[in-house]
Amino acid sequence: MKNLELGEDNSKRDNNPDINEEAMAASSAATEGVAAAALRSVIQRVHQAAERSARGPDRIRIVAVSKTKPVSLLRQVYDAGHRCFGENYVQELVEKAPQLPDDIEWHFIGNLQSNKVKALLTGVPNLAMVETVDDKKIADRLDRMVASMERKPLKVFIQVNTSGEESKSGVEPAGCVELAQHVSQSCPNLEFCGLMTIGMLDYTSTPENFKTLAQCRSEVCKAIGMPEEQCELSMGMSGDFELAIEMGSNNVRIGSTIFGAREYPKKN
Ligand SMILES: *Cc1c(COP(=O)(O)O)cnc(C)c1O
Repeated sequence: MKNLELGEDNSKRDNNPDINEEAMAASSAATEGVAAAALRSVIQRVHQAAERSARGPDRIRIVAVSKTKPVSLLRQVYDAGHRCFGENYVQELVEKAPQLPDDIEWHFIGNLQSNKVKALLTGVPNLAMVETVDDKKIADRLDRMVASMERKPLKVFIQVNTSGEESKSGVEPAGCVELAQHVSQSCPNLEFCGLMTIGMLDYTSTPENFKTLAQCRSEVCKAIGMPEEQCELSMGMSGDFELAIEMGSNNVRIGSTIFGAREYPKKN
């Protein structure tokens, strides 16, 4: 899978066993900046989790989730060699993307409204993936927009609401087969790549949520005739990415552990 090349780059950097890792992290924190140092530590933890699940680290993509963070901090992580970033808000992404190199692979991971599709696709030519397709309408809208532009097919994940919490977007697990069939059969400008979920906010039942997503994958793959190893799972965030990898994730979305806690402007 071509889009998993990132992990290979990452793995080249931290495989010298002679260096004390903590000392290295501490000294590099001073010279290379906290976000870059945090990224190194995340890469290491991802590698260890991949080993525990008997998979190669090159099969696991780290999406650095940079919402609310300034371009200068993204730049630091980019300069440390990272190329895959995730954003939640169209307006924010459209402002940041032109200020950064165009070899970044942007993942859109927020709730996408139909009326923002055009702004997203025209404003971010290097948009690599939309992880949050959750109904036919948004799939059709994306498909038509890509068709009208000169760009390669857009990779998509289908977002599944595995926790049943009403506040979460995502298709119900029972509806994921039908939506995957629609995307893979009726949206020629979209490339169906897998399934995405956000676990429970309190993390207590994420193993259940991750299991549900893996079950959805089995059903989807059977229905559309896709080999399971080609169908990716996007699950795991700062609080649970190691568990997610052990349960089969190959796309982890990590924000605060790399960039620090987010501060949202207070609404008054
Ligand atoms: C913000 C966000 C993340 C990152 O969350 P952290 O806990 O900061 O790692 C991952 N996925 C989605 C969909 C998000 O909105």
